[in-house]
Amino acid sequence: MEVAAELRESRPDVNIRILDRGGSILSAFPGKLQEYVASWFRLHDVEMFSHISITSLEPGVIHNGVQPIFTDVTVWTAGIQPVDIVQRMNQPKDQQGRLIVNEWHEMPNAPQVYVVGDCSSQPHSPSAQLAGALGEQVAEVILARWQNKEPKLSRIKLKGVLGSLGKKAGFGLMGTTPLLGRIPRMLKSGVLWRSKRHFG
Ligand SMILES: Cc1cc2nc3c(=O)[nH]c(=O)nc-3n(C[C@H](O)[C@H](O)[C@H](O)COP(=O)(O)OP(=O)(O)OC[C@H]3O[C@@H](n4cnc5c(N)ncnc54)[C@H](O)[C@@H]3O)c2cc1C
Repeated sequence: MEVAAELRESRPDVNIRILDRGGSILSAFPGKLQEYVASWFRLHDVEMFSHISITSLEPGVIHNGVQPIFTDVTVWTAGIQPVDIVQRMNQPKDQQGRLIVNEWHEMPNAPQVYVVGDCSSQPHSPSAQLAGALGEQVAEVILARWQNKEPKLSRIKLKGVLGSLGKKAGFGLMGTTPLLGRIPRMLKSGVLWRSKRHFG
């Protein structure tokens, strides 16, 4: 979404299409947020295609089953998968190929190995925010053991999601509350500024 919006603002002359497998863009988010983002794209002349299941790609053509979709440039943003070394590991994994870990983020068959981030099976979607929180928890576990104490970890609370739609608009989700418009865009600028300068 962010790439499409940035591209539109910098290049009003190109045709932009967003192809999505879901019934609408950002289908995991509340309807109000989806509708806001979709209306921004309609207003800015970005086409949205839902229920697209890409079966293959080649230069100039994306294949949606038997339907060809012609394109000059394709930007692939359809998700991530664990790195090769994890793919090759013969250890218990979830459906996304992420390693199953115990409550201390250790591999059950090799408790001296901690797993955090995108490779770790978690109830949340993979994100930098989650990877950071898991890293902090592993540090807590190691520190507690060092001090011969039983580690006590609290439930991870994520701060929410922020996205930009060009320079002036944005969207966000704080708990279950959608934020739309200029304020989430300003918050996102603040978050990016802080992370670039490594503020916590
Ligand atoms: C396009 C895109 C946009 C995203 N936007 C957001 C966002 O806005 N907000 C958000 O929270 N998250 C976002 N994410 C997700 C976020 O980037 C990841 O969830 C996060 O980086 C995971 O952290 P990690 O430490 O698990 O993995 P990574 O950050 O991928 O770090 C893994 C590191 O391990 C190294 N590595 C791999 N294999 C080996 C090996 N064999 N030996 C040594 N080193 C190795 C890699 O080079 C890499 O540096 C985005 C991801 C993508 C792809």
